[in-house]
Amino acid sequence: MKIGSNMVVSLTYKLTNHKTGEKIEETTTENPMLFLYGVGAIIPEFEENLDGKVVGDVFKFAIDSENAYGTPSEEQIAMLPISIFQNEEGKINEEELFEGAFVPMSDNDGNHLRGLVLEIKDELVKMDFNHPLAGIDLHFEGTIVEVRPATEEELEHGHAHGVHGHQH
Ligand SMILES: [Zn+2]
Repeated sequence: MKIGSNMVVSLTYKLTNHKTGEKIEETTTENPMLFLYGVGAIIPEFEENLDGKVVGDVFKFAIDSENAYGTPSEEQIAMLPISIFQNEEGKINEEELFEGAFVPMSDNDGNHLRGLVLEIKDELVKMDFNHPLAGIDLHFEGTIVEVRPATEEELEHGHAHGVHGHQH
């Protein structure tokens, strides 16, 4: 079975910084990446590079930052009032909020995002909401582990189900 629209794909990969060769992340055979192909859930160019591949095929390709997580932007840097991090007693949790920490937050639309704490002042916290991989050219290599048609339920939900997919 070939990778294409409405297929569920399972694969392992190693992601490195294309310029420096530094390893960013790596999946294992026990914990592969599982996704529904063709619904825009992942980087389009990543999908294009896998089109037509079958189980056992290996892949190796690079994606420029502009086509991956974009270019870091000043607009993604925000000054937030420290009060939103304070508890009822006006204290902050110093184990979670410190310079260099990634803090899970949500925006006004309820989207989850992570912010990197750049600086903590008396009244304000300077945070960077750029994607941690913005500005980085990505290099992927890996192996296709499984390809199967998506179930009707998966197509309805727009994501893959199973041990490594959505469980609900
Ligand atoms: Zn579902």
